[in-house]
Amino acid sequence: MGVQAHLPGFIVQHFDFNHQISTRQRAGRFFWPLHQFQSRAGEDIAKAGIRGLARILKTVKVKVPDVEAGQFIRFHDGVGRALDATFHTQGTQQMAHQSGLAGAEITAQFDECMTQQRLCREAGGKSLGRVFIAPVQAFYNRRVSQFVHHFKAKPSVSMIRDWARELGFSQIGVTGVDLSSSEAGLSAWLAAGFHGGMGYMAQHGLMRARPVELLPGTVSVITLRMDYLSAAAPGDWQEIELQRLGRREEGAVSIYARGRDYHKVLRRRLQMLAERMTAEWGPFGYRVFTDSAPVLEAELAARSGQGWRGKHTLLLNREAGSLFFLGEIYLDFPLSPTEPVAEHCGRCQACIDVCPTRAIVAPYRLDARRCISYLTIEHAGSIPLELRPLLGNHIYGCDDCQLVCPWNKFAQRSALPDFDERAGLTGGQLVTLFGWTEDEFLRHTEGSPIRRIGHERWLRNVAVALGNALRAGPSEQLRDALLARAQHQSALVREHVLWALAA
Ligand code: SF4
Ligand code: SF4
Repeated sequence: MGVQAHLPGFIVQHFDFNHQISTRQRAGRFFWPLHQFQSRAGEDIAKAGIRGLARILKTVKVKVPDVEAGQFIRFHDGVGRALDATFHTQGTQQMAHQSGLAGAEITAQFDECMTQQRLCREAGGKSLGRVFIAPVQAFYNRRVSQFVHHFKAKPSVSMIRDWARELGFSQIGVTGVDLSSSEAGLSAWLAAGFHGGMGYMAQHGLMRARPVELLPGTVSVITLRMDYLSAAAPGDWQEIELQRLGRREEGAVSIYARGRDYHKVLRRRLQMLAERMTAEWGPFGYRVFTDSAPVLEAELAARSGQGWRGKHTLLLNREAGSLFFLGEIYLDFPLSPTEPVAEHCGRCQACIDVCPTRAIVAPYRLDARRCISYLTIEHAGSIPLELRPLLGNHIYGCDDCQLVCPWNKFAQRSALPDFDERAGLTGGQLVTLFGWTEDEFLRHTEGSPIRRIGHERWLRNVAVALGNALRAGPSEQLRDALLARAQHQSALVREHVLWALAA
C-alpha cells in the first residue's frame, strides 16, 4: 500500500529534444527524459536542450509506493503514464554537479511522519503533505524545487514593490537561484586567501553561491535596497567626508555605521514584508537575510537589476550610487525575474587609485586582508605593521573608494530616521574616543553596529589613528592619551599603544 500524495498535474508545453535524447524515448512516456535520470544525468542532461518543459495545470492525487526519508523518493506508478522513473534526488544533484551543472531539479518536501527509514510506507490514507516534481521553465541546468501553494491571489512583483516602499526600501529586484557562473570566481577568491580571517567564508564554501543549499526549496530571491545616507547630509557630503580624512586628530567612522545597526533595521522590515505577503496571499516558505548568512548579496542584487558590480566590488546604481544596504528574501515559489542592468564604470578607476592600502588588487578583485573595513571591523588580532600607517584616521570602516566614485553624487537620502548620525561619533576627537571606558563605549554605541567590535578592538583602532596623528606632528595631548592606556589589561591594546608612542 502506498501513501497518498498530492502531485501537481502537468501539461506538456514544449519539447525540444536533441537527437541523442529522442532516440531513447519510449512510446507513451512523455516524461521519458526523466527516466534513468539518476544514471544518465551526468552524460545526457547537459546535452538535452530541453526548455520550457511543463507547467503546473492542476493538482491530482497519486500513490507513492516507496519513500525513503532524507534520501530519495521513488515514483513508479499511480501517475498513469506520466511518470515512470526512479528519482534519487541527492544522487542526481551530485551527478549534475559533477557535470558542471548547478544541480538537479527534483526535490521533495517530506511529511513530518517521515523519519529515518520508510516510516510512511504503511501510512495508508494519511497525507504525505506536499510532494512535488516541477520543471517549470528552464530545466536541467538549474535546481528547481517548488512546493504547492494555494494562494488567495496571484503573487505580484509590483505589489511587493509597493509594500517594500512603505517599509523604507527604495528598490526591489527578483532573480532565480542559479549562481553557478559565480562559483569559479568565489572559489578563486577563497583559494587566494583574500577572505583573511573570515574563516566562516571558507567554511561555507560554495553555499554562498547556492541558495538552495542554504534554504532547500528556494526558487526565487527578492533583493531589496535601502539607502542609508542621512536625510540631513548636505549636497557636498563627499567633499566634507574627504576633508575629514585630512583632520588627523579626528576619528573617521564609516557613514553607514553612524546610525542604528542596519542588521536590526533591515531584518525587521524584511520580516514585516514577508509577513505582509503571507497575509495577502497565504503561507509559503521563506527566510530573510541581511549580511547575516552565506548569501552572495551583491551578486544576487546585480542579477536582479539593482545595479552593477563596481571595480571596488560594491554594487552601484545609476540613480543611487553605492550608499545602500541590501537585504534578501529567499522564497519557495517562483516570481518573474527582473532584468539585470549594464555596467557603467567604463575607463574610470578612481576607486582603485584612491585606496590607501591597495586592497583593490585588480578591477573587481578585493583582497579583504588589506581593506581597512576588514582590518578595523572583522579582523580580531593585531593589525599588520606595514598597514597601520595607511589607516590614517579611520577607526571604524572606510568609505574612501565610495567617496571618489562619480556615481555617488546620485546617492539617495534615507527614507528612515534610523540612519541619522548620532551625536559624538561624527567629528569625534581621537583623544575623547580613546578615553571612553568600556561602559561609556557600550553606552555610546548602544544599538549601533560599532558595538559589535567591542571595547578592546575599538581601543586598538583608535590607538593606530593616534599613532598616525603623532606621525603627522608632535602633540602632548595625543601622547598623554596614549600613555594613559600603556598599561591596559589587554596585550592587544598595549602593543598598539606602544607602536603609536614610538612614532
Ligand atoms: S574600503 Fe577603503 S581600504 Fe577597502 S577597498 Fe575601499 S578604499 Fe580600499
Ligand atoms: S570609482 Fe569608477 S571604477 Fe570605481 S566603482 Fe566608481 S565608477 Fe566604477
